[in-house]
Amino acid sequence: MAEQSYYEILGVERGASQDDIKKAYRRLAMKYHPDRNPGDKTAEEKFKQIGEAYAVLSDEQKRAAYDRFGKAGVDPSAAGGAGGGFGGFGGFGNMGGGDFQSAFGDIFADLFGGGRGPRGPQGPQPIRGNDIRFELEISLEDAAHGRKMDIRVPAWDSCSTCHGTGCRPGTHRKSCPTCGGTGTVRVSNGIFHVQQTCPHCQGTGQVVSDPCPDCQGSGYKRTARVLEVSIPAGIDDGQRIRLSGKGEPGVNGGAPGDLYVQIRIKPNDVFERDGDDLHMDLPISFVTAALGGEVEVPTLDGKSRITIPEGTQGGKTFRLRGKGIVNMRTRDPGDLFLHISIETPVNLTSKQKQLLRDFESSIKAGGDKHNPKTTSFFDRMKNLFK
Ligand SMILES: [Zn+2]
Ligand SMILES: [Zn+2]
Repeated sequence: MAEQSYYEILGVERGASQDDIKKAYRRLAMKYHPDRNPGDKTAEEKFKQIGEAYAVLSDEQKRAAYDRFGKAGVDPSAAGGAGGGFGGFGGFGNMGGGDFQSAFGDIFADLFGGGRGPRGPQGPQPIRGNDIRFELEISLEDAAHGRKMDIRVPAWDSCSTCHGTGCRPGTHRKSCPTCGGTGTVRVSNGIFHVQQTCPHCQGTGQVVSDPCPDCQGSGYKRTARVLEVSIPAGIDDGQRIRLSGKGEPGVNGGAPGDLYVQIRIKPNDVFERDGDDLHMDLPISFVTAALGGEVEVPTLDGKSRITIPEGTQGGKTFRLRGKGIVNMRTRDPGDLFLHISIETPVNLTSKQKQLLRDFESSIKAGGDKHNPKTTSFFDRMKNLFK
């Protein structure tokens, strides 16, 4: 079979410009680069040929010699075979290893930046397992007081059928064809290149050719386990508790991931939380509001009693210090705010209605002093329509 010319190797015309030669070389060198074709002998050979062709054709002197004398004009071994007949051409007649190396060095600097040449294989890298997020809904009481809880989370056990190898019993793993067993591949966008974990074997350098029917080749079986999680007093909605090493298992001896317990706090019928403070609406009768009295209020620590002063207006807020939620860091408790609403009596008997009418008359007889808000309201209205 006739040997391909350097022009044919690069796929360019004999009269091709330096620019075309460089472009052709770039394209082919990327295609046949050993890092992209691990273990492929044909690609490796092709890559060498491309490099040789480019080293000659990119140098106008060497190219001229090649055009006149063919390979013999530039090939060191051919030149030697011809009895040194081309000595007269000077340096280019005997292209030493150094020359060749520098031609490669230049083009790699050009192609990949930083002048990095092909790199040797790297062993499979340990890969840390994935983290898992687990959502846990708890009551406001549990968040306030803290508690230990058992949660059922996903877990992975080594597959008992294949003993964790992922291979059908009696078969073995084989070297990964994508990365040639190195566990890494080089990815390039034409200018920069990065070494990445091989997507095919996940960096193990090995693949399962005949997967275990019980675990589909993963070597693991998903199960569940019960873990105890300690919920600290004062935790708030959206906060996370980390259980170190309780996530998915690692690969190649990598550490397992972590389990994050994401806290959700169920809405409470009575209390609304605002940081460390709690708020609640406290309805009282209009008689209690007028006369004052003791009322019972719920707190997260049980029932408590407060004194409503005489003449309390609707919308008034009372604060119970220290009856909120304990701050997780400072351990200082927040407060409980009671927002007073005054209830209007309903379903009155005719006797009760009469009592209220009599009451209203006696209030009116007393003038402005009994209804301070109403009085100021009518004053403002008068100003509005003046
Ligand atoms: Zn298995
Ligand atoms: Zn691979």
